[in-house]
Amino acid sequence: MFLKGKSAIITGSTSGIGLAYAKALAAEGCAVMINGFGDANAIEQERAGLEALSGAKALYDAADMSKPDQIAAMVARAQSELGGADILISNAGIQHVAPVDEFPPEKWDAIIAINLSSTFHLMRAAIPAMKAKKWGRIITTASAHSLVASPNKAAYVAAKHGIAGLTKTVALETAIHGITVNCISPGYVWTPLVENQIPDTMKARGLTREQVMNDVLLAAQPTKQFVHPEQVAALALFLCRDEAASITGANYAMDGGWTAA
Ligand code: NAD
Repeated sequence: MFLKGKSAIITGSTSGIGLAYAKALAAEGCAVMINGFGDANAIEQERAGLEALSGAKALYDAADMSKPDQIAAMVARAQSELGGADILISNAGIQHVAPVDEFPPEKWDAIIAINLSSTFHLMRAAIPAMKAKKWGRIITTASAHSLVASPNKAAYVAAKHGIAGLTKTVALETAIHGITVNCISPGYVWTPLVENQIPDTMKARGLTREQVMNDVLLAAQPTKQFVHPEQVAALALFLCRDEAASITGANYAMDGGWTAA
């Protein structure tokens, strides 16, 4: 349990990749603050499960990542109730798909706020305490779309490229303080978000489940395999180790070879 005595904030951790991060950290004894939307009972069950797993506190905070004041309040709460946020994982994200000339401006604003600006507000609030402790780990979930583009995803690709640049910049600024800042850039990950798209796509395109998975979703992923949330979380856990102290400013693709093409 190498994270005993440490605490973490993981945004967007009520499902998918974020929940896998929370479980991986808790399994190493880390106190965690989870965040995101969803059914209150289901969230409470996950929170209690994390507390049982870690033997440390697990809290839930409903801060909306599009609201800077709520982000600041969540970081302050982690500091008062968990003794800090030694590890910050900025992961909350949304998507909207449309050609740029039909892209609703309010969707653009929401994606930039949640997928990009929230990370700035989180870092800004959490870094002073990390500097004081001379130790910190910041991990951002970017995407293969931090490295390459796809049509109809203007806001998402802009936000994820922004995350890659923000991560590198803050890595340089904090390197001297014992803080590392890295991106993980997954390809298609098997989460409820992806799984739930399959029936609609089958119907809309007249395809079988297998055709949707291989010819639509995994078309760009040479392994023809989905990444699993636990694989992403395992890399994040490694980045929290002392052995990873010299890894900073990196952007790790975990995309089955997508961005090698
Ligand atoms: P998900 O939909 O399962 O999880 C998203 C999480 O963000 C949920 O907990 C949700 O409640 C939360 N969230 C959404 N809006 C929020 C807001 N305004 N404030 C606070 N929380 C909010 O999706 P996921 O696939 O686990 O995605 C997590 C991250 O991984 C995202 O940043 C996404 O862009 C990135 N990603 C996902 C994939 C994939 O294939 N699933 C691939 C690459 C990158």
